[in-house]
Amino acid sequence: MKITKIETLVCHARMRNWIFVKVLTDQPGLWGWGEATLEWHTRSVVGAIEDLGSLLIGEDPTRIEHLWQMMHRQHFWHGNGIVRGTAISGIDIALWDILGKVHGVPCHALWGGRVRDGVRLYCHLGGGRMEDFYQARPDDAARFADLARQAVAEGFTAFKAMAVPETQPIEGLQPVRYAATCVQAMREAVGEGIDIMVDCHARPSPRMGHLFAAALEPFGLYFLEEPCWPECMDDMAAIQRSVRTPIATGERLVGLAPFRDLLEKRGASVLQPDLTHCGGLTEGRRIAALAEAYRVGLAPHNPQGPVSTAASIEFGFSTPSYLICESVHADVPWRHEVVDQGFTVEPKGRIVRPNPRPGLGVEINEAVVKAHPFEQEILQRSFYRDGSVGDW
Ligand SMILES: [Mg+2]
Repeated sequence: MKITKIETLVCHARMRNWIFVKVLTDQPGLWGWGEATLEWHTRSVVGAIEDLGSLLIGEDPTRIEHLWQMMHRQHFWHGNGIVRGTAISGIDIALWDILGKVHGVPCHALWGGRVRDGVRLYCHLGGGRMEDFYQARPDDAARFADLARQAVAEGFTAFKAMAVPETQPIEGLQPVRYAATCVQAMREAVGEGIDIMVDCHARPSPRMGHLFAAALEPFGLYFLEEPCWPECMDDMAAIQRSVRTPIATGERLVGLAPFRDLLEKRGASVLQPDLTHCGGLTEGRRIAALAEAYRVGLAPHNPQGPVSTAASIEFGFSTPSYLICESVHADVPWRHEVVDQGFTVEPKGRIVRPNPRPGLGVEINEAVVKAHPFEQEILQRSFYRDGSVGDW
Protein backbone atom coordinates (compact mmCIF):
# COMPACT_ATOMS: atom_id res chain seq x y z
CA MET A 1 0.00 0.00 0.00
CA LYS A 2 1.30 3.46 -0.90
CA ILE A 3 0.44 7.09 -0.30
CA THR A 4 -0.34 8.60 -3.70
CA LYS A 5 -1.38 12.15 -2.89
CA ILE A 6 -1.91 14.59 -0.01
CA GLU A 7 -4.61 17.21 -0.58
CA THR A 8 -5.54 20.22 1.52
CA LEU A 9 -9.12 21.48 1.48
CA VAL A 10 -9.58 24.94 2.96
CA CYS A 11 -13.01 25.83 4.30
CA HIS A 12 -13.70 29.37 5.50
CA ALA A 13 -15.60 29.29 8.80
CA ARG A 14 -15.62 32.99 9.83
CA MET A 15 -12.95 33.21 12.49
CA ARG A 16 -10.98 30.32 11.11
CA ASN A 17 -10.18 28.67 7.84
CA TRP A 18 -10.51 24.98 8.57
CA ILE A 19 -7.71 23.11 6.78
CA PHE A 20 -8.78 19.53 6.09
CA VAL A 21 -6.03 17.13 5.04
CA LYS A 22 -6.90 14.22 2.78
CA VAL A 23 -4.24 11.53 2.44
CA LEU A 24 -5.01 9.29 -0.55
CA THR A 25 -3.68 5.80 -1.16
CA ASP A 26 -3.34 3.44 -4.11
CA GLN A 27 -6.19 1.35 -2.66
CA PRO A 28 -9.49 2.32 -4.30
CA GLY A 29 -11.74 4.23 -1.88
CA LEU A 30 -9.16 4.25 0.91
CA TRP A 31 -8.16 7.67 2.22
CA GLY A 32 -7.77 9.35 5.57
CA TRP A 33 -8.99 12.69 6.94
CA GLY A 34 -6.92 14.97 9.12
CA GLU A 35 -7.13 18.61 10.13
CA ALA A 36 -4.41 21.26 10.33
CA THR A 37 -6.29 24.45 11.11
CA LEU A 38 -4.07 27.32 12.24
CA GLU A 39 -5.96 30.59 12.22
CA TRP A 40 -4.23 33.49 10.47
CA HIS A 41 -1.55 31.14 9.12
CA THR A 42 -3.62 29.18 6.64
CA ARG A 43 -1.42 29.70 3.58
CA SER A 44 1.73 28.85 5.57
CA VAL A 45 0.31 25.52 6.76
CA VAL A 46 -0.99 24.58 3.30
CA GLY A 47 2.53 25.22 1.98
CA ALA A 48 4.13 23.24 4.81
CA ILE A 49 1.91 20.25 4.05
CA GLU A 50 2.95 20.46 0.41
CA ASP A 51 6.61 20.48 1.50
CA LEU A 52 6.12 17.44 3.76
CA GLY A 53 4.32 15.61 0.97
CA SER A 54 7.62 15.28 -0.87
CA LEU A 55 8.78 12.94 1.94
CA LEU A 56 5.65 10.82 2.01
CA ILE A 57 4.45 10.11 -1.51
CA GLY A 58 5.11 6.44 -2.29
CA GLU A 59 5.47 5.46 1.39
CA ASP A 60 3.34 2.89 3.24
CA PRO A 61 0.67 4.90 5.17
CA THR A 62 0.37 2.26 7.90
CA ARG A 63 3.94 2.87 9.13
CA ILE A 64 2.71 5.87 11.10
CA GLU A 65 5.51 6.14 13.67
CA HIS A 66 8.15 5.77 10.96
CA LEU A 67 6.53 8.47 8.84
CA TRP A 68 6.09 10.71 11.90
CA GLN A 69 9.83 10.41 12.60
CA MET A 70 10.56 11.32 8.99
CA MET A 71 8.27 14.35 9.09
CA HIS A 72 9.68 15.52 12.43
CA ARG A 73 13.38 14.91 11.94
CA GLN A 74 14.29 14.90 8.28
CA HIS A 75 15.50 17.79 6.16
CA PHE A 76 17.43 19.18 9.14
CA TRP A 77 14.72 21.36 10.72
CA HIS A 78 12.80 19.62 13.45
CA GLY A 79 9.01 19.85 13.43
CA ASN A 80 8.79 21.80 16.67
CA GLY A 81 7.49 25.12 15.35
CA ILE A 82 3.81 25.87 15.16
CA VAL A 83 3.44 25.84 11.36
CA ARG A 84 5.39 22.62 10.75
CA GLY A 85 3.93 21.05 13.91
CA THR A 86 0.42 21.77 12.63
CA ALA A 87 1.22 20.37 9.18
CA ILE A 88 2.67 17.18 10.70
CA SER A 89 -0.36 16.88 12.97
CA GLY A 90 -2.85 17.12 10.12
CA ILE A 91 -1.10 14.39 8.15
CA ASP A 92 -0.60 12.21 11.24
CA ILE A 93 -4.32 12.34 12.11
CA ALA A 94 -5.19 11.27 8.56
CA LEU A 95 -2.73 8.34 8.78
CA TRP A 96 -4.46 7.05 11.93
CA ASP A 97 -7.81 7.36 10.14
CA ILE A 98 -6.38 5.19 7.34
CA LEU A 99 -5.00 2.61 9.79
CA GLY A 100 -8.40 2.29 11.50
CA LYS A 101 -10.03 1.77 8.11
CA VAL A 102 -7.44 -0.84 7.14
CA HIS A 103 -8.26 -2.84 10.28
CA GLY A 104 -11.97 -2.05 10.25
CA VAL A 105 -11.99 -0.59 13.78
CA PRO A 106 -12.37 2.88 15.35
CA CYS A 107 -9.05 4.53 16.21
CA HIS A 108 -9.61 4.12 19.96
CA ALA A 109 -9.65 0.34 19.41
CA LEU A 110 -6.12 0.61 17.96
CA TRP A 111 -4.86 2.13 21.20
CA GLY A 112 -5.88 -0.53 23.71
CA GLY A 113 -9.62 -0.15 23.52
CA ARG A 114 -12.21 2.00 25.19
CA VAL A 115 -11.39 3.21 28.71
CA ARG A 116 -14.69 5.04 29.39
CA ASP A 117 -18.35 4.97 28.40
CA GLY A 118 -18.69 8.62 27.45
CA VAL A 119 -16.65 11.78 26.88
CA ARG A 120 -18.02 14.98 28.42
CA LEU A 121 -18.05 18.09 26.25
CA TYR A 122 -17.74 21.66 27.40
CA CYS A 123 -18.69 24.64 25.30
CA HIS A 124 -17.54 28.19 24.86
CA LEU A 125 -19.99 30.83 26.01
CA GLY A 126 -22.30 31.44 23.07
CA GLY A 127 -21.38 28.04 21.61
CA GLY A 128 -18.27 29.52 20.01
CA ARG A 129 -20.01 32.39 18.30
CA MET A 130 -17.18 34.89 17.99
CA GLU A 131 -19.11 37.90 19.28
CA ASP A 132 -20.21 36.06 22.43
CA PHE A 133 -17.03 34.23 23.39
CA TYR A 134 -14.28 36.61 22.39
CA GLN A 135 -16.03 39.97 22.47
CA ALA A 136 -18.39 39.97 25.49
CA ARG A 137 -17.41 43.13 27.40
CA PRO A 138 -15.68 42.52 30.73
CA ASP A 139 -17.78 45.25 32.38
CA ASP A 140 -21.02 43.51 31.36
CA ALA A 141 -21.36 40.77 34.00
CA ALA A 142 -25.06 40.35 33.26
CA ARG A 143 -24.21 39.29 29.69
CA PHE A 144 -21.84 36.62 31.02
CA ALA A 145 -24.60 35.36 33.34
CA ASP A 146 -27.13 35.22 30.46
CA LEU A 147 -24.74 33.28 28.24
CA ALA A 148 -23.91 30.92 31.13
CA ARG A 149 -27.61 30.15 31.63
CA GLN A 150 -27.92 29.57 27.88
CA ALA A 151 -25.06 27.01 27.92
CA VAL A 152 -26.76 25.08 30.72
CA ALA A 153 -30.12 25.28 28.93
CA GLU A 154 -28.41 23.71 25.90
CA GLY A 155 -27.51 20.71 28.05
CA PHE A 156 -23.89 21.47 28.94
CA THR A 157 -22.62 20.74 32.45
CA ALA A 158 -19.44 22.75 31.84
CA PHE A 159 -18.54 25.87 29.90
CA LYS A 160 -15.65 28.27 29.40
CA ALA A 161 -15.65 32.06 29.41
CA MET A 162 -13.05 34.69 28.58
CA ALA A 163 -13.81 36.78 31.62
CA VAL A 164 -10.33 38.26 32.04
CA PRO A 165 -9.77 41.54 30.20
CA GLU A 166 -6.61 42.54 28.38
CA THR A 167 -4.17 44.21 30.72
CA GLN A 168 -0.80 45.89 30.52
CA PRO A 169 1.99 44.30 32.59
CA ILE A 170 0.68 46.07 35.67
CA GLU A 171 -2.74 47.60 36.08
CA GLY A 172 -4.81 48.67 39.05
CA LEU A 173 -7.80 47.08 40.66
CA GLN A 174 -10.50 47.60 38.00
CA PRO A 175 -9.77 44.71 35.56
CA VAL A 176 -9.39 42.29 38.46
CA ARG A 177 -12.73 43.45 39.88
CA TYR A 178 -14.33 43.07 36.42
CA ALA A 179 -13.14 39.48 36.18
CA ALA A 180 -14.32 38.60 39.68
CA THR A 181 -17.71 40.24 39.09
CA CYS A 182 -18.22 38.33 35.82
CA VAL A 183 -17.29 34.99 37.37
CA GLN A 184 -19.44 35.63 40.42
CA ALA A 185 -22.40 36.47 38.13
CA MET A 186 -21.91 33.23 36.19
CA ARG A 187 -21.59 31.18 39.38
CA GLU A 188 -24.76 32.71 40.81
CA ALA A 189 -26.56 32.10 37.49
CA VAL A 190 -25.76 28.39 37.23
CA GLY A 191 -25.08 27.22 40.80
CA GLU A 192 -22.36 24.95 42.11
CA GLY A 193 -23.29 21.84 40.09
CA ILE A 194 -21.94 23.31 36.86
CA ASP A 195 -18.23 23.50 36.04
CA ILE A 196 -16.96 26.92 34.99
CA MET A 197 -13.64 27.48 33.27
CA VAL A 198 -11.96 30.81 32.60
CA ASP A 199 -9.50 31.29 29.76
CA CYS A 200 -7.05 34.14 30.34
CA HIS A 201 -5.78 33.65 26.75
CA ALA A 202 -2.28 34.33 28.10
CA ARG A 203 -3.19 38.01 28.23
CA PRO A 204 -1.88 38.75 31.73
CA SER A 205 1.70 39.31 32.74
CA PRO A 206 2.82 36.85 35.43
CA ARG A 207 1.99 39.34 38.18
CA MET A 208 -1.44 40.16 36.74
CA GLY A 209 -1.98 36.42 36.34
CA HIS A 210 -1.33 36.01 40.06
CA LEU A 211 -3.85 38.74 40.85
CA PHE A 212 -6.55 37.25 38.60
CA ALA A 213 -5.95 33.75 39.95
CA ALA A 214 -6.26 34.95 43.54
CA ALA A 215 -9.39 36.98 42.82
CA LEU A 216 -11.13 34.07 41.07
CA GLU A 217 -10.12 31.39 43.57
CA PRO A 218 -13.28 31.73 45.74
CA PHE A 219 -15.54 30.77 42.83
CA GLY A 220 -14.30 27.20 42.54
CA LEU A 221 -13.30 27.20 38.87
CA TYR A 222 -12.88 23.81 37.21
CA PHE A 223 -9.69 25.29 35.81
CA LEU A 224 -8.04 28.62 35.05
CA GLU A 225 -6.40 28.61 31.63
CA GLU A 226 -3.19 30.32 30.46
CA PRO A 227 -2.89 32.88 33.27
CA CYS A 228 0.36 34.13 31.70
CA TRP A 229 2.44 33.60 28.58
CA PRO A 230 3.35 29.95 28.03
CA GLU A 231 6.95 31.13 27.55
CA CYS A 232 6.94 32.06 31.26
CA MET A 233 6.74 28.48 32.48
CA ASP A 234 8.32 29.15 35.88
CA ASP A 235 5.74 31.86 36.50
CA MET A 236 2.95 29.52 35.40
CA ALA A 237 4.21 27.07 38.02
CA ALA A 238 4.36 29.82 40.64
CA ILE A 239 0.72 30.75 39.93
CA GLN A 240 -0.25 27.07 40.10
CA ARG A 241 1.41 26.85 43.54
CA SER A 242 -0.18 30.05 44.78
CA VAL A 243 -3.84 29.00 44.39
CA ARG A 244 -5.90 25.88 44.87
CA THR A 245 -7.56 26.40 41.45
CA PRO A 246 -6.18 23.93 38.87
CA ILE A 247 -4.14 25.73 36.22
CA ALA A 248 -4.52 24.56 32.61
CA THR A 249 -2.18 25.25 29.71
CA GLY A 250 -0.54 23.68 26.68
CA GLU A 251 -2.50 24.70 23.58
CA ARG A 252 0.50 26.61 22.18
CA LEU A 253 3.10 23.93 22.97
CA VAL A 254 4.41 21.78 20.14
CA GLY A 255 6.03 18.41 20.75
CA LEU A 256 6.82 16.36 23.82
CA ALA A 257 9.76 18.39 25.17
CA PRO A 258 7.89 21.52 26.35
CA PHE A 259 5.25 19.34 28.03
CA ARG A 260 8.08 17.53 29.82
CA ASP A 261 9.45 20.88 31.00
CA LEU A 262 6.00 22.02 32.15
CA LEU A 263 5.39 18.81 34.09
CA GLU A 264 8.85 18.87 35.68
CA LYS A 265 8.11 22.38 36.93
CA ARG A 266 4.68 21.20 38.20
CA GLY A 267 3.29 24.04 36.08
CA ALA A 268 -0.25 22.77 35.49
CA SER A 269 -2.92 20.40 36.74
CA VAL A 270 -4.51 20.12 33.30
CA LEU A 271 -2.62 19.73 30.01
CA GLN A 272 -4.29 21.08 26.90
CA PRO A 273 -2.33 19.75 23.93
CA ASP A 274 -3.99 20.56 20.63
CA LEU A 275 -3.93 17.40 18.53
CA THR A 276 -3.84 19.52 15.37
CA HIS A 277 -0.70 21.37 16.55
CA CYS A 278 1.24 19.28 19.09
CA GLY A 279 2.36 16.59 16.62
CA GLY A 280 -0.93 14.83 16.03
CA LEU A 281 -2.30 11.74 17.70
CA THR A 282 1.13 10.11 17.68
CA GLU A 283 2.74 12.85 19.79
CA GLY A 284 -0.48 13.45 21.74
CA ARG A 285 -0.40 9.87 23.00
CA ARG A 286 3.19 10.36 24.19
CA ILE A 287 2.19 13.56 25.99
CA ALA A 288 -0.68 11.67 27.63
CA ALA A 289 1.69 8.94 28.80
CA LEU A 290 3.96 11.56 30.33
CA ALA A 291 1.00 13.24 32.04
CA GLU A 292 0.04 9.88 33.49
CA ALA A 293 3.38 9.70 35.31
CA TYR A 294 2.60 13.02 37.00
CA ARG A 295 -1.11 12.18 37.60
CA VAL A 296 -2.11 15.25 35.59
CA GLY A 297 -5.33 15.42 33.59
CA LEU A 298 -5.84 16.19 29.90
CA ALA A 299 -8.39 18.46 28.27
CA PRO A 300 -7.28 18.95 24.67
CA HIS A 301 -7.67 22.31 23.02
CA ASN A 302 -10.28 21.99 20.27
CA PRO A 303 -12.00 25.14 19.00
CA GLN A 304 -11.40 24.19 15.35
CA GLY A 305 -13.30 22.11 12.81
CA PRO A 306 -15.00 18.72 12.94
CA VAL A 307 -12.03 16.46 12.12
CA SER A 308 -10.13 17.97 15.05
CA THR A 309 -13.15 17.17 17.23
CA ALA A 310 -13.38 13.57 15.99
CA ALA A 311 -9.66 13.08 16.69
CA SER A 312 -10.04 14.59 20.19
CA ILE A 313 -12.98 12.27 20.91
CA GLU A 314 -11.18 9.12 19.74
CA PHE A 315 -8.22 10.18 21.89
CA GLY A 316 -10.59 10.66 24.85
CA PHE A 317 -12.02 7.19 24.56
CA SER A 318 -8.57 5.64 24.85
CA THR A 319 -6.79 7.96 27.31
CA PRO A 320 -7.40 7.30 31.03
CA SER A 321 -6.39 10.75 32.29
CA TYR A 322 -8.63 12.57 29.79
CA LEU A 323 -11.04 14.88 31.61
CA ILE A 324 -13.24 16.72 29.16
CA CYS A 325 -13.30 17.84 25.52
CA GLU A 326 -13.55 21.44 24.35
CA SER A 327 -16.22 21.95 21.71
CA VAL A 328 -17.84 24.69 19.64
CA HIS A 329 -21.15 24.25 17.87
CA ALA A 330 -22.33 27.73 16.88
CA ASP A 331 -19.30 29.19 15.10
CA VAL A 332 -20.99 28.76 11.68
CA PRO A 333 -24.60 27.61 11.18
CA TRP A 334 -23.62 25.03 8.52
CA ARG A 335 -21.05 23.22 10.70
CA HIS A 336 -23.08 19.98 10.74
CA GLU A 337 -23.36 20.01 6.93
CA VAL A 338 -19.63 19.79 6.34
CA VAL A 339 -19.18 16.45 8.10
CA ASP A 340 -20.85 13.08 8.50
CA GLN A 341 -19.57 11.78 11.85
CA GLY A 342 -19.76 8.48 13.68
CA PHE A 343 -20.08 9.56 17.31
CA THR A 344 -23.33 10.73 18.87
CA VAL A 345 -23.88 13.43 21.48
CA GLU A 346 -26.58 13.09 24.11
CA PRO A 347 -28.34 16.47 24.25
CA LYS A 348 -28.79 16.31 28.03
CA GLY A 349 -25.36 16.53 29.61
CA ARG A 350 -23.61 16.71 26.23
CA ILE A 351 -21.97 13.33 26.66
CA VAL A 352 -20.39 11.80 23.56
CA ARG A 353 -21.06 8.12 22.92
CA PRO A 354 -18.40 6.20 21.01
CA ASN A 355 -17.97 6.13 17.28
CA PRO A 356 -18.47 2.58 15.97
CA ARG A 357 -17.12 3.34 12.47
CA PRO A 358 -13.59 2.55 11.32
CA GLY A 359 -10.89 5.17 11.88
CA LEU A 360 -12.12 8.56 13.02
CA GLY A 361 -15.56 7.79 11.63
CA VAL A 362 -15.78 11.04 9.67
CA GLU A 363 -16.40 11.87 6.05
CA ILE A 364 -16.07 15.45 4.83
CA ASN A 365 -18.62 16.79 2.37
CA GLU A 366 -16.31 18.31 -0.21
CA ALA A 367 -19.15 20.18 -1.94
CA VAL A 368 -19.86 22.09 1.28
CA VAL A 369 -16.14 22.86 1.64
CA LYS A 370 -16.07 24.22 -1.92
CA ALA A 371 -19.06 26.47 -1.11
CA HIS A 372 -16.92 28.19 1.56
CA PRO A 373 -13.53 28.85 -0.04
CA PHE A 374 -10.59 30.56 1.66
CA GLU A 375 -11.10 34.10 2.87
CA GLN A 376 -8.74 36.11 5.00
CA GLU A 377 -9.66 35.47 8.64
CA ILE A 378 -11.21 38.39 10.51
CA LEU A 379 -8.21 40.24 11.88
CA GLN A 380 -7.92 40.49 15.65
CA ARG A 381 -5.87 43.53 16.42
CA SER A 382 -5.33 44.19 20.09
CA PHE A 383 -3.99 47.43 21.50
CA TYR A 384 -3.87 48.86 25.00
CA ARG A 385 -5.36 52.24 25.86
CA ASP A 386 -2.07 53.96 25.08
CA GLY A 387 -1.86 52.43 21.60
CA SER A 388 0.81 49.88 22.39
CA VAL A 389 0.37 46.31 21.25
CA GLY A 390 -1.53 43.93 23.49
CA ASP A 391 -2.26 40.21 23.50
CA TRP A 392 -5.50 39.07 21.94
MG1 LIG B 1 -7.28 28.88 25.40
